[in-house]
Amino acid sequence: MKSIQDLRTDDIACEALLGALDGKNKLVAIYDTSDRLVFASSAFKHAFRLNRERGEITFADLVMRGILGQCGTRIEGDNAAAVIGDAISVRRERAVQEARTDVLTGLSNRRHSMSALELAITAAVGTETPLTVALVDLDHFKQINDSHGHAAGDAVLRDFGEVCRHATRQTDIAGRIGGEEFLVVFPSTSVEHGVSAVERMRRQVMSRRVQVAGDCAIRYSFSAGVCKVETSDDLNTTLARADSALYSAKREGRNRTIAWSAPLQ
Ligand code: GH3
Ligand code: MG
Ligand code: MG
Repeated sequence: MKSIQDLRTDDIACEALLGALDGKNKLVAIYDTSDRLVFASSAFKHAFRLNRERGEITFADLVMRGILGQCGTRIEGDNAAAVIGDAISVRRERAVQEARTDVLTGLSNRRHSMSALELAITAAVGTETPLTVALVDLDHFKQINDSHGHAAGDAVLRDFGEVCRHATRQTDIAGRIGGEEFLVVFPSTSVEHGVSAVERMRRQVMSRRVQVAGDCAIRYSFSAGVCKVETSDDLNTTLARADSALYSAKREGRNRTIAWSAPLQ
């Protein structure tokens, strides 16, 4: 097990955090992605009798040691292996979920949104079902930050995350792909229905007031570019068309939704 002294010297923030945790009378343990213990607070070491431990210990080792040594975790019943297995799979699921999620809004993050869109395109092309994609960008967001502060901007982003969650179906994908840029994917949906869904979101956003410090209620809006996925499309061509429609929506005055249409010959 690593001690605080073993940490990379350039990881100052991490070291400070671990130091602060170690000072409290709390049981804190941090595991790496392979479930090996990389940090234990003094109280945790004491509870699990880890004071003279050398080498690597996994979560499962720790629980088993606890049972054998009558210390640390107490497990009711006699099926410790099943308890450990369940705990590990819950922890893995949680880790996978966290790796896909944008921390601020709770929506999918950029990486997961893009791979989900790629899968959706393959499925739609393969099954010849319609697929519609929207790129959404909040309007004059820099002004919100400049006038009310970064925390207010974050509150607006969280609010829009809520709108997305409520306005989309379980099978839709809503993700934050950049600072104030979002991607919404509507499987099995024609471009007309996709535009209607985005317009419903836009009307909802227009009625929102985000309460921020100083008893201030902020209004915001977004512009959106919508396009349907064609059979010859991949991720980049789809995004490029949605982006070009979004650009038109911005140019034509913002707070509107524009569906991509082929340029006149
Ligand atoms: P437009 O209507 O043309 O989209 O203008 P805009 O001001 O929204 O666009 P611009 O690209 O000029 O500014 C985006 C701003 O978003 C700048 C950046 O500081 C801010 N931003 C990016 N990520 C975050 C974030 O996570 N939180 C906050 N509060 N602001 C962010
Ligand atoms: Mg913007
Ligand atoms: Mg932007």
